[in-house]
Amino acid sequence: MEKLNNLFFVSILLFLPQLIFAQKQAVDLIIRNGTVVTMNAPKTVIENGAIAVRKSEIVAVGTVAEITQKFSSTQTIDAGGKVVIPGLINTHTHIPMTLFRGIADDLDLQEWLQKYIFPAEAKNVTEDFVRVGTRLGLAEMIRGGTTTYCDMYYFEDAIADETSKAGVRGVLGETLIDFPAPDNKTFADAKIYAEKFVKKMAGKFFDCSGDCAPRALHLFGKLALLNR
Ligand SMILES: [Zn+2]
Repeated sequence: MEKLNNLFFVSILLFLPQLIFAQKQAVDLIIRNGTVVTMNAPKTVIENGAIAVRKSEIVAVGTVAEITQKFSSTQTIDAGGKVVIPGLINTHTHIPMTLFRGIADDLDLQEWLQKYIFPAEAKNVTEDFVRVGTRLGLAEMIRGGTTTYCDMYYFEDAIADETSKAGVRGVLGETLIDFPAPDNKTFADAKIYAEKFVKKMAGKFFDCSGDCAPRALHLFGKLALLNR
């Protein structure tokens, strides 16, 4: 009987680590040791905080002790000495224009647009230009902590494609303008493109994705008529 008891004791000892480990939930990533700025309603800031992430979802936020007691992960990031904040949102971009950076500065908007930007766009903007400029803009935004941005440009479908590949959220609108644009030479063609884009993007990013630019234009058109 004593032998049996001993065996039981030994087996408990053997399986104890697994029992403790089994109580922990597996996640894909734990970020630990940072100052976590939650931006929840009471604006809680957790010193020596940790975040448990499963796939692309935050499953728990707390102190290092709380998180490591409940979760285990093979991948961890030591954020010691750093602040961990929610992703930033860039609310106004024409992202491929990163490639026009520095061609003209410190001018009145109309002069800047009409003397420099519109001619440069007519000469240079192709789908390729847009893709390359978007990739550069996305890399810069990711580096600066931006995870969502709101954009309006030409070839917006290509911008959506690059944005999706980069894993960034985009609220994207195709430009409708009353002169020949780089992607659509007539307003009618631009409208067809925009409508197709809105349908294709429905539900993919945010609710108003692919909708903002045409909707805004409609509103501005109405306002312009009222002001005549
Ligand atoms: Zn703008």
